[in-house]
Amino acid sequence: MSSADNRRNVRAGYRNGGATVEGLIQNVDFSHPSLNDSLEGEIQAFLINEDQLHTYDDLTKVNPVTPTTVLKCLQARYSVKVFYTHAGCTLVALNPFQPVPDLYSLDVMKEYHYASQPQEFKPHIFIVAEEAYRNVQGQLEPVNQSLVVSGESGAGKTWTSRCLMKYYATVAASSSVMKSQDTVERIERRVLDSNPIMEAFGNACTLRNNNSSRFGKYIQLQLDRCQLLVGASVQTYLLEKTRVTCQPANERNFHIFYQMMKGATDQQRKEWMMSQDQCFAWLPNSEKTVEEDCFDETVEAMVHLGIHAERQQQIFRILAGILQLGNVSFSSSTDESQTCHLSEQSEDFLQRAAELLCVPAEELQTCLRVRTLKAGKQNVLKPCSQAECSVRRDCLAKLIYAQLFEWIVTFINNSICADKSTWCNFIGVLDVYGFECFQINNLEQLCINYANEKLQQHFVAHYLRAQQEEYVSEGLQWSFVKYQDNQSCLDLIEGSPISVFSLLNEESRLNRASDAKMFRVRLEKELSDNGNISWDKFSKVPHFTVAHYAGRVNYQIEGMVEKNKDPVPAELINLFEKSDNPLLQEIFADKKTENPTNRGLSKVTVVSKFKNSLENLMKILHTTTPHYTRCIKPNPDCKPLTFKKEEVIMQLEACGIVETIHISAAGFPIRIPFQSFMKRYGLIAKYSKLRSQCVDLEADNNDALQQEVKKLLGVALHHLSSDRHSSLVHCGKTKVFLTQAMLDLLEDQRKKIL
Ligand code: ADP
Ligand code: MG
Repeated sequence: MSSADNRRNVRAGYRNGGATVEGLIQNVDFSHPSLNDSLEGEIQAFLINEDQLHTYDDLTKVNPVTPTTVLKCLQARYSVKVFYTHAGCTLVALNPFQPVPDLYSLDVMKEYHYASQPQEFKPHIFIVAEEAYRNVQGQLEPVNQSLVVSGESGAGKTWTSRCLMKYYATVAASSSVMKSQDTVERIERRVLDSNPIMEAFGNACTLRNNNSSRFGKYIQLQLDRCQLLVGASVQTYLLEKTRVTCQPANERNFHIFYQMMKGATDQQRKEWMMSQDQCFAWLPNSEKTVEEDCFDETVEAMVHLGIHAERQQQIFRILAGILQLGNVSFSSSTDESQTCHLSEQSEDFLQRAAELLCVPAEELQTCLRVRTLKAGKQNVLKPCSQAECSVRRDCLAKLIYAQLFEWIVTFINNSICADKSTWCNFIGVLDVYGFECFQINNLEQLCINYANEKLQQHFVAHYLRAQQEEYVSEGLQWSFVKYQDNQSCLDLIEGSPISVFSLLNEESRLNRASDAKMFRVRLEKELSDNGNISWDKFSKVPHFTVAHYAGRVNYQIEGMVEKNKDPVPAELINLFEKSDNPLLQEIFADKKTENPTNRGLSKVTVVSKFKNSLENLMKILHTTTPHYTRCIKPNPDCKPLTFKKEEVIMQLEACGIVETIHISAAGFPIRIPFQSFMKRYGLIAKYSKLRSQCVDLEADNNDALQQEVKKLLGVALHHLSSDRHSSLVHCGKTKVFLTQAMLDLLEDQRKKIL
């Protein structure tokens, strides 16, 4: 649409709206000056009183909305221990890094739940929770809800998700009169107890968070017709299974291993072959104690969910077996056969691993050391090198752990999922890893950032809709249709026919010896047209750089194809499905069905699987009303009440708050209610030759106020005597919408008078 067309349409709309002031017409103009940093100080000084900064409970009320003003406002609030702030349709949650019990007590929950207008209360995660709860019972028909919680590691996502679950477990039960307290409590308890189990198996102590979730999750809380919580279901994403065999420096393995080490009874220690002074290669930093090292709590939760003692025993023996396996190492043989042997002492560890995993030790050793190749109809045995043996050992441990985790999630689902006939709506809580950019980034980061890119797209679409609705309700004719979203970056990663994922999958399928090199060559050749990807030709480490909405990330090419293949030696599957541990039998039988070719190559690559599960998630999200909570980590050291501006601004950028600001800057970023507008600029009219009637500032008659504002704007624009300016301002039904440029001009006029 040309701008002339737009102007015409807008004029028509304007007349329909009954406006009288000629020339006060806005058109769609994307070229107005964007936020201008040099003016920021001035603008702040006039619109924001520093002492009052902490009182802004919605960042959209901060005028103008710029990264600096947003940051200042959040900082001011944090310093007076206010941790939640609205940002339009988003809630920003700053991590207090200290307990704030009064903020989440039962009484507070009740306050928000029973309030007739919870939105009028102080910003709180309970407002989001309550709004979603009320929305479920939509006015015309019920609408499912999604609470999307995002932020970087340690920002408070999991904490917030737990808080939301507790809220529903409380309010969706307290109103219960239909069910016996017994039943209600049981299901709520079980839903809440799924947390400690999943956290024990899926969380670990990292440099950034002592209780860092190493998987993403989407939990759906199922509500019946009376809005009571009757069950839940969990979907998990991309468990970081490499952590089982390889822990980054100063980080730990999954909590559950340490819980066992610290919490086992003497009897259990014996059964699990874990003496107190035993050192395990895969259990670094055991001396570090974290709050999460609570074995009893995990076991208690398992009992509540119905994992009986015998099953528990099977689970713990498997975990103990993995630890023993980690102490098995290999040494190159000096003899001519070139086969490699178990290194000294490893015999014992292998023996114990085999015993705990209930497979014959000899066979386990052979599987680790010898590869079976098919040559026609015959099997050829090929001894593995030392490095290959270690890879096979690690592969086995990761496979067992990942399958066990999946089994646990399935068990939890069977235990807490309500019968389809008993629930009709759900509230989904999404707790996924935030945008990641490390020194070295690999396939995991690519997947994580791709997920964030998808969620951002979903958010932007939703945000634009909300903006559009406000404009419509205020009588503005404005369209955001031209806004460039991140589709081109998504096309680069997942698009068809050619994208990073498609090339990665192709290389994985072709299984060439020099796959890293080929992958690199093809990326450069086939994706060079996409502006979102680039290369540093002189870099020693081959990588490609993707320009994500949240920043540029370098991805290392080496190892990516192999990670995507995620191969599992068929011999290992064949061995473990015969294990005498019934649980191992079960989980390996599942693996076999997933991988029927029996060639040891997983048919489904990591990225295809991830893309599929993400697409399913997006489909669900699209059918729900979303609510976004952005968790912010105010400092990297997890210190209470410490606010580091640089850290926060980076996160505001990464979670899209700054992006949102840019979008709003494409329209009218400054909105001033009529009364405030007249208070500040009334004098322009007063001292004008075109003097208008004096305005009664206390008037609560909105129509009268609107008329005054229009007159005032007419005067101001007359002074500017340029047609161009009319596109910079619009008078809505309750507030004035301005661009930055218009604000500057008004300020100039005001200063001249003063
Ligand atoms: P994430 O899941 O984003 O990585 P977590 O939810 O695990 O981060 O939060 C990290 C830590 O921060 C928690 O273990 C807790 O100590 C603290 N924390 C987070 N949110 C809050 C809160 N609202 N009140 C008190 N402490 C919090
Ligand atoms: Mg977490």
